[in-house]
Amino acid sequence: AYLDVIAAHDEDVKAFVHVDRDAALDAAREVDRQRQAGEKLGLLAGLPVAVKDIMCTRGVPTTCCSKMLANYVPPYDAHAVTLLRNAGAVLIGKTNMDEFAMGSSTEHSYFGATRNPWDLERAPGGSSGGSAAAVAAQMAPLAVGTDTGGSIRQPAGFCGVVGMKPTYGRISRYGLVAFASSLDQIGPFANDTAGAALLLEAMSGYDNRDSTCIDTPVHPYSKTVEEPLAGLKIGVAKEHFVDGLDPEVEAAINAALGVYESQGAELREISLPHSKYAVSVYYLIAPSEASSNLARYDGVHYGHRAESFENMIDMFSASRGEGFGHEVKRRVMLGTYALSAGYYDAYYLKALKVRRLIREDFDTAFQDVDVIVSPVSPTPAFKLGAHDDDPLGMYLSDIYTLSANLAGLPGISIPAGMSSEGLPIGLQVLAPPLQEDRVLRAARMFE
Ligand code: GLN
Repeated sequence: AYLDVIAAHDEDVKAFVHVDRDAALDAAREVDRQRQAGEKLGLLAGLPVAVKDIMCTRGVPTTCCSKMLANYVPPYDAHAVTLLRNAGAVLIGKTNMDEFAMGSSTEHSYFGATRNPWDLERAPGGSSGGSAAAVAAQMAPLAVGTDTGGSIRQPAGFCGVVGMKPTYGRISRYGLVAFASSLDQIGPFANDTAGAALLLEAMSGYDNRDSTCIDTPVHPYSKTVEEPLAGLKIGVAKEHFVDGLDPEVEAAINAALGVYESQGAELREISLPHSKYAVSVYYLIAPSEASSNLARYDGVHYGHRAESFENMIDMFSASRGEGFGHEVKRRVMLGTYALSAGYYDAYYLKALKVRRLIREDFDTAFQDVDVIVSPVSPTPAFKLGAHDDDPLGMYLSDIYTLSANLAGLPGISIPAGMSSEGLPIGLQVLAPPLQEDRVLRAARMFE
């Protein structure tokens, strides 16, 4: 049924860059066989899952929606993909994204933009816009994305679905194409928090092939998600309700806070004084790490190689010049600049220090509250092309989501209402590290 929806509507939405019809049908038949034979079924037995095209899938193209990797077919699966297969998931295809996950609209894809299923003239958010749109358009009940600076939560908000970024280190990054390694984290998309809990549970766990993966038992999220939290203390940061916040988004968040209060939750004002630096800090650290990670695309080891060049140096630069799109080049240049001798202390090192202050703000706030509730983004989905000549405006739209990545915290985006134009509005819930269970249960109370 999901494959039929894809066939009927994905020409308009463009959520997928690769659909694996035959392999999906084979996998579904295998689950049927297991069921009939009375074998033990996995957590995701028979459930279709769409996977962002930044995660390595054995024998299936993994392009990062870049010309650089347009012909890359990995010989191995990402750890999270292995866990999905082991849990009986049916992998139906790879979803569209901003090139190398750099963007907030899925317009920076080499294969063309994904469109928001609620309004095809609008962006689905990004960079995991294909995964969010696939769930919103009923092309898959579950999807996987990655969140380096909001790339799961913001598109979930724009598309009216649930999207979650776990604690940094909860899910192995082995086989995830690196963008900014100290921020990248894999996470689930679903129609509701129960679905997100299920997919999170299936993908979590220790893996020694990612040195930052946390070795702690996986909580049975899907078993506890329905249990409301008694005496929940909700932090509301005054810095989150300032200029630039759309009044309809503000009204939806305030209404949601009222729903929590009616269930016995207590609201407390908190302060996150360094959150105003999150955009500046993120757009120094993420491009710096990206400039280093993307140095591997040299036309020799991986991906695109220019056809004509004079010498070796020319081969590197021609291959990179042809293989990377504008936004990726912008990030590599910003990052190379911030890391260069003479600027390192002033920009990169300074950004790392402020990153620590942002984390400490959260540590202080969480001494007093259990979760923090905020908007996901300042506005509902913007029009395609709205930020074409305005990269800074696009970066500023990440204001509410970046801090969780800089601090390594888990966070979720859930639907919290509709704008007068009929566009979804998202609500964000954040909690201390490894408190995914608390995030999910608090979000479920509002659903
Ligand atoms: N919008 C942010 C960026 O462009 C976040 C991307 C992400 O989380 N992958 O870098």
